[in-house]
Amino acid sequence: MKGDMYFASASDEEILKRGEYGGAVTALLKFALESKVVDAVLGVRKRSGNNRYDGVLDLITDPEEVKECAGSLHCAPVNIARNIKEYLDGAKQMKIAVPCKPCDARAIVEIAKRKQIDRDNVLLVGLNCTGTLSPVSAKEMLISEYEVEPGDVVMEDIDEVDGTWKLTVTLSDGTKKEKDLEELEQKGYGRRENCRRCDVNIPRMADIACGKWGVKEGEKQSFIEVCSDTGTEFMDKAVESDAIKVEKPGGDTIAERKKKDEDAIELANKCKEEYLKELREMSLEDRLAYWMRYFDRCIKCFGCRDACPICYCKKCYLEPDRGYVPGGEVPPDRLFPFTRLAHVADSCVNCGQCQDACPAEIPLTRLYTMLNDELSPMFEYVPGMDVEAVPPLIAAKEEEETLIDDINLFLAKGGEGE
Ligand SMILES: Cc1cc2nc3c(=O)[nH]c(=O)nc-3n(C[C@H](O)[C@H](O)[C@H](O)COP(=O)(O)OP(=O)(O)OC[C@H]3O[C@@H](n4cnc5c(N)ncnc54)[C@H](O)[C@@H]3O)c2cc1C
Repeated sequence: MKGDMYFASASDEEILKRGEYGGAVTALLKFALESKVVDAVLGVRKRSGNNRYDGVLDLITDPEEVKECAGSLHCAPVNIARNIKEYLDGAKQMKIAVPCKPCDARAIVEIAKRKQIDRDNVLLVGLNCTGTLSPVSAKEMLISEYEVEPGDVVMEDIDEVDGTWKLTVTLSDGTKKEKDLEELEQKGYGRRENCRRCDVNIPRMADIACGKWGVKEGEKQSFIEVCSDTGTEFMDKAVESDAIKVEKPGGDTIAERKKKDEDAIELANKCKEEYLKELREMSLEDRLAYWMRYFDRCIKCFGCRDACPICYCKKCYLEPDRGYVPGGEVPPDRLFPFTRLAHVADSCVNCGQCQDACPAEIPLTRLYTMLNDELSPMFEYVPGMDVEAVPPLIAAKEEEETLIDDINLFLAKGGEGE
C-alpha cells in the first residue's frame, strides 16, 4: 500500500555484496526485467574499472548486466529525463525502469505532464539524495583537500555527524577520510551549487523511494517507502518472488529517517538563504541590474536550453528564424535569457543541468530557484512534486481555451445566452 515502508536487501549474495546498501535497488531492477514488468532498465554505471567520475547511463535488457550498475555514483549528475525524452522516444515504445534522484524524478513528472514521456511506461525507482558533485572538481578536491588519489576512492557519503555535515570518502583499503562539508563548499568544492539549495531529499514523486536513512550503521540494507499504486504492485510482486528480503522498520527508525530528512532540509534552507539573502534585500532595480550583468555574458550557445530536461518545443522561440530573438546580432539580444526564464518559470526542478552547461558561468539555477520560490506560493505549485497537479501555464492555457470555446459557442448561437 502507498506509504508502506520496508528495510530491504537483495536475496542474491553477489548483489548483496556489490550494492551500496544491501543491493535492494539492483535486485528490484533485475527483477523488473526478469518478470517482464519492463522491457529495459536505464541504469547508471561506471564507464570503466573503478572510474567513479565518468558515470554513464546504460540501457540494459539482459538481467545479469543490471549488476554492473550496483553502487551509488555521487559524481555523476547524469541527465536522466532528457535522455529518456530525447533518445528513448519518451519511453513511448517500451517500458523502462529507472533509478533516479529527486531532481530526475521531478523532471520526469514535469515532462510527462507535457506529454513528452509516457509516465505509465516508466517505473521510477527513486533514490534519496543530499547532492551530487561535479566530477572534475571532485577529483581536484580529493587531491588537494583529502590528499588521496581519486582512483583509490571506493565510496562517498554525505551525512551529519554530531551536528556537523561531513563528506566522507572510503578508500580501497577501508580507510575513511572525512571533511567538513560546509568548509569544503566555502572553498568552491563539495556539492554542485543547485544541490546545496535543494530541499527535496526523498523522492516521493517516484514509485518507490530508497535510501540509507533510518538503517542502522553497518547494516547491509536500504529503507524503502512505497509512493504510488504502481510502486505497491511492484513491491508486492518483488517480495513474493523473493528477489528481495524485507523487514518492517520500527517507529524509532522511521523517526530517525524523518529527522535526517528534516536536518538536510534545514541545511538546504540555510544554503538557500546565504545565496539569495543579498538578492532578496536588493531593490527591484538593483536586482535587475545584477541579472543584466550576467545576461550580458550570454553567448547564445543554446547550451542551457539543450541541457534542460524540461524544454521540449520542436520549433523553439529562441531559434533565429523565429524572429523573436533576432539572428545575425552579436552580442545576442538580452531577450534570449529572458525568454528562457519565462519558459522555465513554472517547471524548473533545480537539477542544475543548465548551469553545468553554461560556458559563461551564469548562475542560472540561482535565478530560477529565486523565481520559483516567489512563484510557487502564488500558483500553489511546486514543479515535479505533485504528480496530479496541472502546471500553472498549462492550466492558464486550458482556461483560455475553455473561454475561447465559450465565446465561439456564444457567437454560434448568434450572441444569445449567458
Ligand atoms: C548521488 C546519490 C546520493 C545519495 N544520497 C543519499 C542520502 O543522502 N541519503 C540516503 O538515505 N540515501 C542516499 N542515496 C541512496 C543510497 O546511496 C543508495 O542508493 C540506496 O540506499 C539504495 O542502495 P542499494 O544498495 O539498494 O542500491 P544499489 O543496489 O547499489 O543500486 C544503486 C542504483 O543507483 C543507481 N545510481 C548510481 N548512481 C546514480 C546517480 N548518480 N544517479 C542516478 N542513479 C544512480 C545505479 O544505477 C543503481 O541502479 C544516494 C544515492 C545517490 C546515487
